[in-house]
Amino acid sequence: MENNNFLSAFKRIIRECNYDNTYKMAWAKALVELAIENRNQEDFIDIPLKEIAKKYIKYYWNQTIFFDNVQGSSLNKIPVILQIVKELIEKYYNYIENRKPERFERVEYLLEEQLKQDYFDNINKVAKALKADVCWRFIIINGESHEEIYKYIKNENKIIISKDNMNTLKENNEDLFDLINYRWGLILETFNSSPRINKKVKIIDEQEVKRNSLSKYKKYLDVENPNHKCFICGEVIEEKEITIDHVIPWSYLYSDDLWNLVYVHKGCNSRKNNVIPTKLDIEKLKTRNNKLLLLLQDKIITGKEVDELKLAIEKDYVNKFWIGCKN
Ligand SMILES: [Zn+2]
Repeated sequence: MENNNFLSAFKRIIRECNYDNTYKMAWAKALVELAIENRNQEDFIDIPLKEIAKKYIKYYWNQTIFFDNVQGSSLNKIPVILQIVKELIEKYYNYIENRKPERFERVEYLLEEQLKQDYFDNINKVAKALKADVCWRFIIINGESHEEIYKYIKNENKIIISKDNMNTLKENNEDLFDLINYRWGLILETFNSSPRINKKVKIIDEQEVKRNSLSKYKKYLDVENPNHKCFICGEVIEEKEITIDHVIPWSYLYSDDLWNLVYVHKGCNSRKNNVIPTKLDIEKLKTRNNKLLLLLQDKIITGKEVDELKLAIEKDYVNKFWIGCKN
């Protein structure tokens, strides 16, 4: 318990961080993660800004590719680090020739091997932004620089942090991650209108972003659409071509709900990945939902999914979430 001052200062920075963007949260998280990974037993440990930059790329990659979370308060001027990561994601999509979102941890090898130059350029650009904006600012509390947290060595693009401080971060990593994620979520809520923000921040720490199987919804969808007509093109879908799709993108809702699920061709689905539905789609979905509920009630089919469909119609979720995701 001898390193209490450091820990409380570190927590205070997280708690009192302003709401302009999430840079400080990513910085704090990167330090805790690097402390967990640290194997260096010297009294003072060098951390190059490039190592921290790699962590930033991971956090922003995962939050962007799955949920497109906005990380800064100005829509006209998105945080420069987020911009850099978005460019890297586009390069990755161009390289793999589709737009299937994937976790950074799973593609980092690919970036290191195939997109080496782009990835290393990005690391350098992020490190430069950290140098200009974050590394010295993070340790300022009430206008004073607290070098007992770490020392920033400008000419060498690194910080130096004591082994004791690293150990304190490591020992308290669970509480610190909770605090950082909580605060990160609060900041995101000020400029993201999408639902389940906290879950979308938390999930990034877990092993994978789970996409549940949608097959349990078939028995409900079949009641209204037994011939499996495609919601997008209207043609009947052959068995091997059939898939279930979210009309309002999953990346926005981060939830599977009967009121938002329809049958589509696999081909039709991949062409429209994460596109915001049109007014016509929304009207079609609302009509479908009304019809589906009547048929389910007619056939006395019950269950949680049916209750949720009824609630969604009463509360007009389709319209509400559509308006939300359009903004
Ligand atoms: Zn189709």
